Amino acid sequence: MSKKVRVRFAPSPTGGLHLGGVRTVLYNYLFAKKHGGDFILRIEDTDQTRYVAGAEEYIFNCLQWTGLIPDESPAHAGKYGPYRQSERKPIYRQYAEQLVKDGHAYYAFDTPEELEKMRSDFKTEHNPSPQYDHTVRKKMRNSLSLTDAETKQLLDAGTRYVIRIKMPENETVSFTDMIRGEVSFDTSVVDDKVLLKADGMPTYHLAVVVDDYLMKITHAFRGEEWLPSAPVHVLLWKYLFGLNEMPQWAHLPLILGPNGKLSKRDGAKYGFPVFAMSWIDPKTNELTEGFKEKGFLPEAFINLLALLGWNDGTEQEIFTKEELIEKFSMDRVHSGGAKFDYEKAKWFNHEWIKKSEAGSLKSEVRSLFSTNGINVDDDNLLEKVIGLVKDRCTLLTDFVQQGSFFFQQPQQYDLDAIKPKWNDAKRKFFESFTEELNTIPEWKSAFIEDAFKKLAAIQNIKPGELQLPLRIMLVGGKFGPPVFEIAEILGAGETSARMNKTLSLL
Ligand code: GLU
Repeated sequence: MSKKVRVRFAPSPTGGLHLGGVRTVLYNYLFAKKHGGDFILRIEDTDQTRYVAGAEEYIFNCLQWTGLIPDESPAHAGKYGPYRQSERKPIYRQYAEQLVKDGHAYYAFDTPEELEKMRSDFKTEHNPSPQYDHTVRKKMRNSLSLTDAETKQLLDAGTRYVIRIKMPENETVSFTDMIRGEVSFDTSVVDDKVLLKADGMPTYHLAVVVDDYLMKITHAFRGEEWLPSAPVHVLLWKYLFGLNEMPQWAHLPLILGPNGKLSKRDGAKYGFPVFAMSWIDPKTNELTEGFKEKGFLPEAFINLLALLGWNDGTEQEIFTKEELIEKFSMDRVHSGGAKFDYEKAKWFNHEWIKKSEAGSLKSEVRSLFSTNGINVDDDNLLEKVIGLVKDRCTLLTDFVQQGSFFFQQPQQYDLDAIKPKWNDAKRKFFESFTEELNTIPEWKSAFIEDAFKKLAAIQNIKPGELQLPLRIMLVGGKFGPPVFEIAEILGAGETSARMNKTLSLL
């Protein structure tokens, strides 16, 4: 029987969640659901210097918003907890000690000053930033260069130390990446990474291997930036648990912005979101707007992320989450970087708004209205308005402009659009039309249009010339759905009041 699929998203809670991070969540989630497996959220918070208050809660909120809910997490523990690495601290030391005992790792007592000295002593033109590796380790203060007695003495005296992996010289380490196929590394060029820090916390390298093992992870998907660390992880697997136990790796392609790797700075520069949800840096109070607050639907967000690096081999671009679960496969993820295009992202959102039932958008739109000072009590009216204007909204925030005039009189009337062609005949037309409104047999757009056109014919004015003024009177500007449908929703009283108001301004 094959093992139950178990995948994990393992963020470090250091700030806003970049869209690349959400794509990693999504690919994990889709893979787990497709294979009837478990999706785990593990918080990798061993680097206390990078700890940021609120970042973990923010990650939870992002997962909640996107609907990519983990089966196991710090908030919903399964049987492999704790799910926060800082709470697992006592677990890691024994593995680091085991590696020392087996000759795959060593104690290093070097002080920051000694490390600094090594970097300057060994610096050459060809090697501008020397690493702690097999070429220098024997010249440093560690259990490989010292005698056993000296090492014991330092340990007994409580000298601060780290445990480093002893990278083998001239070995080739390889593994099969689910996206890239066979990948090989020469171990000689990899440094002796720290596995256990002086404060007893593991580094990412040790913790990721130990936790993936203990949590029975079968597939590990992470960003391409981790590929250079893969040889360290493969060796740790080999030394500690055996390569048969190692999860299958997939290193996901970078997401590219206008100039190389997409960064938060690109977002600020080009005016698009990079984080899933708005993030306020607690140190600087700087706000970075997220896709949610910008007006994206979570369905559109995950749809566009799915296609940043994957397609199903057809031209199809709009996918529901269920379709993605059915169609997703790692072997269709490209290895090359995926270019993020904000215009295309908005296209996805527009398609999703058009496709959504008006009723399902009500609560979002209602709260957007209320932030803009419009309180909507009439639920049916709200749904009707959403149905009427949604095709015109690319972002949810567009509903404010496209829909608020149904609930309050326009703040401004674009009279400049009417004035150049305004004349007495037109004024007369609108005055008579206002009076005639109560004779319209039924307050429905077709009847209103009919009465409007008949009166125009009687007064010998082309109805086309009257429609723009009517629109500006009802809406305030040159936008919105068909004007007689607007009048129908506004009702006869409000339609007449708005016409009269504009007439008094002209
Ligand atoms: N903690 C790592 C990060 O935040 C996770 C990498 C992994 O998934 O193994 O980037």
